[in-house]
Amino acid sequence: MNDLGEGVYCIDTDYQRPGLAACYLIREGDRLGFVDTGTAQALPRLLDAVASLGLTTEQVDYVIPTHVHLDHAGGAGDLMAVCPNARLVAHPNAAPHLIDPSRLTAGATAVYGEEAFARDFGRITPVPEARVMVAEDGTEIDLNGRTLTFIDTPGHANHHGCVLDSRSQGIFTGDTFGIAYKDLDTAQGPLLFAPTTPVAFDPGAWQRSLDRILALAPRVAYLTHFCRLDDPATHLGTLRESIRYLADLALAEESASDDQRLGRLRAAVDAYLLGRARQNACELPDERVRELLAVDIELNAQGLEVWLRRRARAAART
Ligand SMILES: [Zn+2]
Repeated sequence: MNDLGEGVYCIDTDYQRPGLAACYLIREGDRLGFVDTGTAQALPRLLDAVASLGLTTEQVDYVIPTHVHLDHAGGAGDLMAVCPNARLVAHPNAAPHLIDPSRLTAGATAVYGEEAFARDFGRITPVPEARVMVAEDGTEIDLNGRTLTFIDTPGHANHHGCVLDSRSQGIFTGDTFGIAYKDLDTAQGPLLFAPTTPVAFDPGAWQRSLDRILALAPRVAYLTHFCRLDDPATHLGTLRESIRYLADLALAEESASDDQRLGRLRAAVDAYLLGRARQNACELPDERVRELLAVDIELNAQGLEVWLRRRARAAART
């Protein structure tokens, strides 16, 4: 666990590899809140984090998944089961899936396959509806006098919210402020890019969500992938450009809906991210960069393909 100051602790959930996915523990006095949870397999790490502060799970007041992608929320049900006083705070589009995770399980099994699902996620435990607090845009959550404000931020997913923290003046951004693995940081800075994961990538909505984050003037962004990004406003242009570039790369394939398209999108995303690493003076060999980005290259390509199909269906209806 990494103490980031202001009562914010970053926990590596060890999803797939160290340094890939984090979640956060916020402490205010003797009360706690989690933002994101990792998968069910991360639970022992979360419990260790609570114990290392000399506190217990009875002192956890809130569990706040930013969105229901499983590296963020897969373990929410198991965590809630051991935090008897906690409420689960969830986006209106996320809450139904956390109460009844059958569609999450089916969706993830379809994307990853049954074997990988069992290996990487374990299980998804439902959260009792009575313990769920649906957070509309602007909902203020009181953590022992510290205000956490839930901001609706569609674009990466239509069930995504960010959490603004009054004390650190930071914002917990889930995937909305992109991905920047520490392994790919260089003296020039982070390699920040947009995850266009299936199934609800929406570049226009995403840019508007970034407008909203910018207007809140956060001092720091707490990324799930991975950890703290200081002075987020200085990185905003890079992230906006990444969303535009990936959308344009897909749109260039819009009229070519053959069964080779996903492969071409995969190659184009690969070339883009490798190129970005080189521009950023990354000295790791291509092979290592590809290894670090393998899951994102695949998910970004799949998400762009799903987006193009959704656009085609919408065009067919009009
Ligand atoms: Zn996500």
